[in-house]
Amino acid sequence: MAERRGIIVVVSGFSGTGKGTLMKQLTARYDNYTLSVSMTTRKPREGEVDGREYFFTTDENFEKLISEGQFIEHAGYCGHYYGTPREFVDRMLASGKDVLLEIEVQGALQVREIYPDAVLLFVTAPSAAELVNRLNKRGTESPEIIAQRMARAREEARYIDRYDYLLVNDDLDRCTQLMHEIITAAHATPRCNREFIGEITRSLDEE
Ligand code: 5GP
Repeated sequence: MAERRGIIVVVSGFSGTGKGTLMKQLTARYDNYTLSVSMTTRKPREGEVDGREYFFTTDENFEKLISEGQFIEHAGYCGHYYGTPREFVDRMLASGKDVLLEIEVQGALQVREIYPDAVLLFVTAPSAAELVNRLNKRGTESPEIIAQRMARAREEARYIDRYDYLLVNDDLDRCTQLMHEIITAAHATPRCNREFIGEITRSLDEE
């Protein structure tokens, strides 16, 4: 069987769904995952560290990097740019790691075009009321920003059926476990094993 190649796992979901915590739990529990650090032009929140949560940069620099083709995908979200730097992702995939991209829907659909074997997961809170509750509890955003993010959630809901799987994050442990099982199963799909299928098909012809 061909060497294990990593796959891209896109994780999207409404703001406040707990995607960040889910990603942390997944990478802490299993060692086949690595988290891509995105670049953004939004300002750091309290406690965020440059190079850990995001690479924070200016509009000017972000636009320069777009023109140089240095992002796999990029999108605008609530007035700021967000993008996935290409070099890290390609290097990790080649080394056999599964790369987690926590990105919004426009970016997710761009990734699907470029990496057809990517697995697209959409994570949601159990209800809209719970989502508002979690956003308020986080306490890092003003009421205006929360309203913007809820408006964006309404738009994003329309794209859920373009994803491969839907996960309801009502229990962190259960959701982490399910996510790991889905990704493990994805490794066994024909679309993630094209090289092997090509090899065995050729060998069969030679027998
Ligand atoms: P936040 O400002 O709350 O950290 O992120 C806002 C939104 O941007 C979230 O939905 C998050 O998943 C998304 N996001 C973060 N990084 C990227 C990225 O590199 N590309 C895209 N397209 N979206 C991103």
